[in-house]
Amino acid sequence: MGINFWSEDDLKLLTDTIAADKESAHFLWNCRESRVVQLCGDVIPEGIGDPFAYLNSSKFVKETSLAAFGMLCARINSFIEDGTEESRIAADFSMRFSEDEDYRMCHMTVVILSDNDKRAVSFFVTMRFFREKHMAERRILDNFTSDKSPEIFARHIKRMMDCNPEREIAFIQFDVERFKIINDAYGEKAGDRLLKYLKDSLTVMCSDEQPFARLTADVFMVVIPFDEESEIIDFIHKLEENIGKSYEGIEFRLVFGVCIVEDRTAQTRTHGDNATLARQSIKGNALNNIGFYNGKLKNDLYHQHYIEDDMTNAILNNEFVMFLQPKYNISTGEIIGAEALARWMHPYKGLIPPNQFVPIFEKNGFILKLDQLMWEKACMKIRAWIDEGIEPVPISVNISREYLNTFDVVGKFNELVEKYRIPIHLLEAEITESYDADNTSDVVRKMKSCGFTMLMDDFGSGFSSLNMLKTTPFDVLKIDRGFLSEFMESERGRKIIAHTISMSRDIGLNIIAEGVETGAQAKFLQSCGCDAAQGFYYSKPIPVEEFDRQLHEKAVEGERKKK
Ligand code: C2E
Ligand code: MG
Ligand code: MG
Repeated sequence: MGINFWSEDDLKLLTDTIAADKESAHFLWNCRESRVVQLCGDVIPEGIGDPFAYLNSSKFVKETSLAAFGMLCARINSFIEDGTEESRIAADFSMRFSEDEDYRMCHMTVVILSDNDKRAVSFFVTMRFFREKHMAERRILDNFTSDKSPEIFARHIKRMMDCNPEREIAFIQFDVERFKIINDAYGEKAGDRLLKYLKDSLTVMCSDEQPFARLTADVFMVVIPFDEESEIIDFIHKLEENIGKSYEGIEFRLVFGVCIVEDRTAQTRTHGDNATLARQSIKGNALNNIGFYNGKLKNDLYHQHYIEDDMTNAILNNEFVMFLQPKYNISTGEIIGAEALARWMHPYKGLIPPNQFVPIFEKNGFILKLDQLMWEKACMKIRAWIDEGIEPVPISVNISREYLNTFDVVGKFNELVEKYRIPIHLLEAEITESYDADNTSDVVRKMKSCGFTMLMDDFGSGFSSLNMLKTTPFDVLKIDRGFLSEFMESERGRKIIAHTISMSRDIGLNIIAEGVETGAQAKFLQSCGCDAAQGFYYSKPIPVEEFDRQLHEKAVEGERKKK
């Protein structure tokens, strides 16, 4: 037959294979000599130099499998030109062996023989149509969703892990970023074709040792054995390179989550869930599209999950409540105002402080809902004081920077003061200091021109605070707790605080110190000319009823003094 390169053993394997399976088509391709030898079946005509190129351009591969088949051809070519470590690859395509046949699913196995430079020199190819049993299994694999039939996939994974007891295992999950938008923009059929393309690509890319499946809509999972962690990244990069960034004109980006198996006895589902968490952890991250799972990530994300699951109901069930932290005049001890701070009274988890949900809400956009709720609660409280004949004090509410550019904050504030008929000076707003990346100044100016008092929150906690003072439109600086406690520690720091206060007053800004925790701090602030303070030294944020009581006591005391 003139087939070089094949050893006795190889030939024996070959003849045994063929003898065992007469239904399949087998051929040998000596690519160095551009020669094909048909061993069984006659799919490839005599004299064809490159059987893969022939199949690719023939009508034997169904259109829906052509993209994947093209990828296989490209891999074969790269094995010939650049070399390969692979000795065998396999993939499934919809094919037929003659033009009058129907297309059927066909499993193609390619055994690769390479020279000393690892360049492929010849290939032994087997093409076998699926039997009914295979078809059924494949169909399940194709369609299965995570809650339907993960057993087959789990079995494949287990088999692979058993065959690789010494190697490490990685669960790699990926999905198409914003797939829903692609579906909406290009139509579901196009979306389906993209998914099929991804699945076909995996079929070509993954060896038998790398089981994969489509889990749900656009979520795929591949499980691979590896020795060095760099192999995981290499695998992902290779996958991305082969799949590309667009298909049928649809541009897409894949996002990966990786879980390296630490406990082989754990259920495959656990590793899968961890890979999901890792993937979700980097959603929306423009720079990185590969997330790795670790224990802390898990805690953070579970936390985020339950917060996100519960948040909408929480509004409906009125679980967000407003606490008020009094603001005091240091000299007289009088309550001069309050800051509205959100608390989540969760039915099972108890009171959740804002640092556990505000950052999550800022990320997912829910903060706007929460803030509007707090603004409204503050207005209702002021209205109630007025109606009950209690001397009202201004309440400051927090405005998050997240929606400054997209939501009409000024309009909403005006609407609220009108709805609750509130003297405008009683509703104040706090925005965190920062360089002016979000046009904060514009919003602050507009709010001021309507008559609202604007407070720069957390002053001294970021950069370029002094620089900002040059142009800031704010009325009041709230000195940050960290700035106060840290700078109070040294003579030099105390001087900086003192000068910051006197300089601010000089240019017409009012000052309030927040996070005042000791009498010494209060005294020092007073000596610097700062007369307003808020902090645990005076009072923690308290429920509204408690605040009312304090206001009431103050009023009674005032009356007594007058008499
Ligand atoms: P913030 O606006 O700077 O509020 C002041 C925070 O400092 C409050 O924490 C308050 O309880 C705390 N604090 C006050 N005095 C002291 C003190 O003497 N010592 C210490 N250690 N802490 C003190 P809280 O209520 O946990 O709020 C934390 C942050 O969460 C707030 O910082 C604010 O940025 C955000 N936040 C709270 N409620 C809302 C809201 O309704 N909307 C928005 N956007 N953010 C909110
Ligand atoms: Mg604040
Ligand atoms: Mg603050």
